[in-house]
Amino acid sequence: MINEQLINPKSIVVVGGSNELKKPGGKVLYNIIRGGFKGNLYAINPKETEVQGVKSYANAAELPETDLAILAIPAAFTVETVEILAKQKNTKAFIILSAGFSEVGDEGKLIEDKVVEIINSVDGALIGPNGIGVLTQNYHGVFTEPIPALDPKGADFISGSGATAVFILESAVPNGLSFSRIFSVGNSAQTGVEEVLEYMDETFDPEKSSRIKLLYLENIDKPQKLLKHAQSLIQKGCRIAAIKSGSSEAGSRAASSHTGALSSSDAAVDALFRKAGIVRCYGRNDLAAIGSVFTYPELTGKRIAIITHAGGPAVMLTDALSAGGLEVPAIEPQKAEPLKARLFPGSSVANPIDFLATGTAEQLGDIIDTVNHDFDNIDAMVVIFGTPGLFKVFDAYDVLHQKMKQSPKPIYPVLPSITVAGDEVKAFIDKGHVNFPDEVILGDALARVFHTTKPQNFESDNFDIDAKTIREVIDNSENGYLAPEKIQAILDAAGISRAKETTAVTLDGALSAAENMGYPIVMKVVGPVHKSDVGGVVLGIKNANQLEDEFIRMSRIKGTTGILLQPFLAGKELFVGASHEDKFGHTVLFGMGGIFIEILKDVRTELVPFNKQQALEQIRLLKSYPILEGVRGQKGINSDMFAENVARISTLLEIAPEIKEMDLNPLLGDEKKVIAVDARIRIEK
Ligand code: ADP
Ligand code: MG
Repeated sequence: MINEQLINPKSIVVVGGSNELKKPGGKVLYNIIRGGFKGNLYAINPKETEVQGVKSYANAAELPETDLAILAIPAAFTVETVEILAKQKNTKAFIILSAGFSEVGDEGKLIEDKVVEIINSVDGALIGPNGIGVLTQNYHGVFTEPIPALDPKGADFISGSGATAVFILESAVPNGLSFSRIFSVGNSAQTGVEEVLEYMDETFDPEKSSRIKLLYLENIDKPQKLLKHAQSLIQKGCRIAAIKSGSSEAGSRAASSHTGALSSSDAAVDALFRKAGIVRCYGRNDLAAIGSVFTYPELTGKRIAIITHAGGPAVMLTDALSAGGLEVPAIEPQKAEPLKARLFPGSSVANPIDFLATGTAEQLGDIIDTVNHDFDNIDAMVVIFGTPGLFKVFDAYDVLHQKMKQSPKPIYPVLPSITVAGDEVKAFIDKGHVNFPDEVILGDALARVFHTTKPQNFESDNFDIDAKTIREVIDNSENGYLAPEKIQAILDAAGISRAKETTAVTLDGALSAAENMGYPIVMKVVGPVHKSDVGGVVLGIKNANQLEDEFIRMSRIKGTTGILLQPFLAGKELFVGASHEDKFGHTVLFGMGGIFIEILKDVRTELVPFNKQQALEQIRLLKSYPILEGVRGQKGINSDMFAENVARISTLLEIAPEIKEMDLNPLLGDEKKVIAVDARIRIEK
């Protein structure tokens, strides 16, 4: 749990502080001193009485009371020191930089647990072990470089990996992204990324707090906590981007169903981030770029004007924006002409607005003003301005700076000449701007931020669902796959449309059921999990003779306990599955069914609970959605009914969380109905 002593300590001791700047204990002390920490600073070092001009004590027992201890000593010595500091020196915050704890094995884990126990016993905060430290507005408690520019409104950065945090700073700092606080949680022994976010949520101050949160996560131990606080922060006006690395755990899961093979904790992460409103990132530069976009005003519309003095980058940016679903609309000639007349001959004002390599600072200002005042069909601008090195561009960047300060429409700067115009770019950044050296990275980032929806106030669907019957069936069932009658009862109670069906154990029973149903019918074995694989599904049975032959053959299939009869239906094959992801809870997957589903992986995932509207939005994002809509004379399906079936499963899973795996594969859909013809449910209490 994070406390005031960690964020704003009145006194700090560096345990293991030395004169040796090549060691973490020496370097962290150096960074704190250089960062201008205003409180009392001490070191503990048995060999020195003073290090780097700071008073050094031989051991913890001699130290005066101290708020925060930063430990850079071998793991084996930490327990003793922490004990004295916590119990005798009123130390309430600890940052342990050292490695050698739970990450190396059982012995290290024992030490880590002991340290946490002591710190918890005094209601203290622990960051680490095995991280690079903490950096706040008050002190630079990290042993690494670079130290970014600090600004209370800069990004708050929480990292599950110390080295990665350093490299992310390498990506962000040169472009001018400033930071407010950095937390490297290391082994997260007491405080993980989720807890830091919780702290930021609970202490959020609309006046003073940073609104940008960047996260690097290697695992998500408490997804629900992450979701809750991310949603809450975003609703308070924050913007959050996160990398979640390690996306291939799914490979190890035994695939007993389509859902098992398709679902993965990675899809659950996607669904979680979407629900929270977090922009998911996939690399360091990506996170830095999204974080940089966050420093600018939000796009209020998708229509972008590109102002450039070079053709190529403008074309690439146009491609990137269009690919991301943003627009670079043409400027009407009658609005463009007066501006064009003021530029050099050969300039183009169609959008991109290209004012040529010879374009001047003054012209740049004129263009920006014109876009702001005259071009109603533009919501924001990107200005691309570099130099081939023939002359300095300070004047253009000054104009850009002035205009950015006043512009009602957001302006995003792409200054690509970071070497040749290094001085000019630096001067521009020093005025408080963030630069995007690469226009395609910017275009992609802008589009993703624009399309990330804010968490909405969730309204549940209020379907008419017979929860009592569902509970009765579940409570009276054993663990494992449910029998067809039980599945039928559950689907009916949940209001999920399914094919009429009868299970027969005798030939006579089958014949009379088929007579009632009307041919053509479908016969399926009851018992085997994958029926087609064992020759246990026969479609389009036309008459009693055919039924009899198949009944005899199918009854001999291993594991068969009966034969299920259904009417033979037509329609497009759809799929809905549910699985239970450790810690995340239930995820529901859906898309088009059929034999290619595992190969194409065109499925969308939602985390339970979700409603019909959310399901429908995801259905519309399927690559195969045009097929569901109907293409080339083919009729489509009723997406609304499909969404309703999907959403009813969310409600069903809330009523019956014991359902650990569920598969409706396929549902057959057309314009009038969407009906499940095959269902599997596995429960585990
Ligand atoms: P399994 O998945 O165990 O092999 P299914 O019941 O899904 O068995 O049947 C296999 C395939 O047969 C389905 O994917 C679907 O294409 C088709 N099918 C199943 N039931 C019907 C039905 N009632 N009407 C039309 N086609 C069906
Ligand atoms: Mg099936």
